[in-house]
Amino acid sequence: MNLWKIAVDAPLHQTFSYIGPADLTAGTSVKIPFGKRISTGVVMGDDPKRDTEIDYKSIIETDVDRPQLSPPLLEWAEWMSKYYHYPVGEILSLFFPPLKRKGRNPPRDLFEKLSQQVVVLNSEQQKISNAILQSHDFSSHLLWGVTGSGKTEVYIDLIRKLIDQNKNALVLVPEIALTPQLVTRFRKRLGEVVAVLHSHLTDRERTDQWWSVANGEKKVLIGARSALFCPIPNLGLIVIDEEHDGSYKQEETFKYNARDAAVMRAFYEKIPIVLGSATPSLETWKNAEEGKYQMHVLKSRASDMILPSVEIVDLTEEKTKKKEDASTLPFWLSHKLFEALEENYKKGFQSALFINRRGVAQTVLCDSCGYIYTCPNCDISLTLHGTSHLVCHYCDYSDSMSKQCPDCREGEPKPVGIGTERVEDDLHKLFPSARIARVDRDEVDSRESMESFVGKMENHEIDIVVGTQMIAKGLDFPKLTLVGVVLADVALSVPDFRAAERAFQLLTQVSGRAGRHYQGQVIIQTYRQDHPSLIFSQHHDVRGFVTQELIHRKELFYPPYSKIACVRFSSLKQSSCHQYALDISHALRSYIDQEHFEKSQILGPTPAPLVRIRNRYRYHLLLKSSSQFELHRLLQLVLHLSKKERQIKVQIDVDPYTLM
Ligand code: ADP
Ligand code: ZN
Repeated sequence: MNLWKIAVDAPLHQTFSYIGPADLTAGTSVKIPFGKRISTGVVMGDDPKRDTEIDYKSIIETDVDRPQLSPPLLEWAEWMSKYYHYPVGEILSLFFPPLKRKGRNPPRDLFEKLSQQVVVLNSEQQKISNAILQSHDFSSHLLWGVTGSGKTEVYIDLIRKLIDQNKNALVLVPEIALTPQLVTRFRKRLGEVVAVLHSHLTDRERTDQWWSVANGEKKVLIGARSALFCPIPNLGLIVIDEEHDGSYKQEETFKYNARDAAVMRAFYEKIPIVLGSATPSLETWKNAEEGKYQMHVLKSRASDMILPSVEIVDLTEEKTKKKEDASTLPFWLSHKLFEALEENYKKGFQSALFINRRGVAQTVLCDSCGYIYTCPNCDISLTLHGTSHLVCHYCDYSDSMSKQCPDCREGEPKPVGIGTERVEDDLHKLFPSARIARVDRDEVDSRESMESFVGKMENHEIDIVVGTQMIAKGLDFPKLTLVGVVLADVALSVPDFRAAERAFQLLTQVSGRAGRHYQGQVIIQTYRQDHPSLIFSQHHDVRGFVTQELIHRKELFYPPYSKIACVRFSSLKQSSCHQYALDISHALRSYIDQEHFEKSQILGPTPAPLVRIRNRYRYHLLLKSSSQFELHRLLQLVLHLSKKERQIKVQIDVDPYTLM
């Protein structure tokens, strides 16, 4: 018998030691008595420090429903636990499927058979593909190329070569981009070797897909961020498509960034990783500039099409003009965009209008006293849906709008601002014969409805689509030649240090939807036509944008020039939450003095921009440091101090994506 260190699936940071058979190996899952229940855990290694005072408990049995984890995966899990300050046992539980494996029947394939398609890489693509497979060890690569430049064909080529060497591959894409289109394309090129994991699968489907990869039957796993944890035998390559995308960051519980964690998985597995993007994140760009990542560039679109022309319409000017010629167009629609829509529709092409707000109106305001309908749980304004339905987009609280202001009882509540529903309604009036569809979370809420939308677009059963960022990503429709951004200002005016970067990426991505097969046109409406994110995006100037934005970040000591972590406090009571955040900040500041940590700063505590969500008050502290070591010591102190705190929830967010 031996003493083994076990990472128990529980919210505790340490491992626990148990007696077990001497022939166990690290990476085996076991059942163990834990407190009053039987729990599952993973053997991390043997415990050489047997304490004779302790009466160790024994392992009950090995868990045969879970495959063995390899040593690199265990090391990687330990790295994540240290880096994100999250319990290793809980991280390891993500490595396994939700349900038990089903009997002996092979899992039902989700797909019908497809005929195969071959694409021969052009010389630029070929060179990149060869360069990436040069190394047989860890290496990270940035593949930078405009939408339509052929990045996906490079991934497919790499994977085909690996499959020939009997290796497997993992491809991560943002959840939203995980459309049937992408999966179909991989299957057409690679055959029936593809498994898929995303959030719209049932637990049974997830489990079956997971096993088909874990037992080596499927060679390629395409998935959203959580697919990163699937143990894949003979893993030879990881691809992160749209590496800049914010949805790689998990905002709840285990706050990891799947892109960053994937780079570390590749490091431990000793394999290459490819990060692909048309608009690389500043972090990745800087890593490439410093030579940590190899940069590969695809300069032009793969087919002969040139990039769409991008025009910016100044809405302030437009407003005056519309007054002068007594225009009857809706307030959100400029002459330019209207005429372009009309012409595109007449020519028999498809158009997309993009507005990053759901509903009919952003707020409902009393025209007499200025009363605004707000959510009683979240302190933010309610959004109007339909004619009178008011909804909170954070907690789903709902109310109905009355004819008379509930506050002054004199004025009348009026919708202000704009959302997808309002745009759709107006379009129906302007183009009565056009087939108009809306794509947002209210309208398209399942995989089936997304598939149905994609099908209708492909068969040209839709002339104009109105959507949120759901239509910004990953979709490819030959006849979509006009893209209009209804109000770019929504993206530009978010109080967050990444707002400019996100706006640039979003606008560039939306533009990329247009004219992938025919010449395309993009019209961006805004009140801030001088905003650098807009101008750089108009000129498809990624390098220009990144260069300028990096200077800002450096001046403000923000990533990628510093490491940041956010400590979030929330509580039902505002005063105690604030006081507690203050106490922690004092403790951190004196620790910094005492240890002579010269590379670190503490900012705050401040109320979070969304100060109350679901009745909880929110404060945060921002830790900034140019030293990884100092930052993590400070976070360890936070964890230590907050261990016993029950009334106030304390959460650590390393490399936060937003500070909202
Ligand atoms: P990205 O991933 O950069 O957006 P894609 O790989 O989707 O670009 O390529 C855009 C389009 O061009 C796709 O329809 C793709 O099949 C086609 N394509 C890419 N590379 C080639 C090639 N070498 N020969 C022919 N068509 C190509
Ligand atoms: Zn709410």
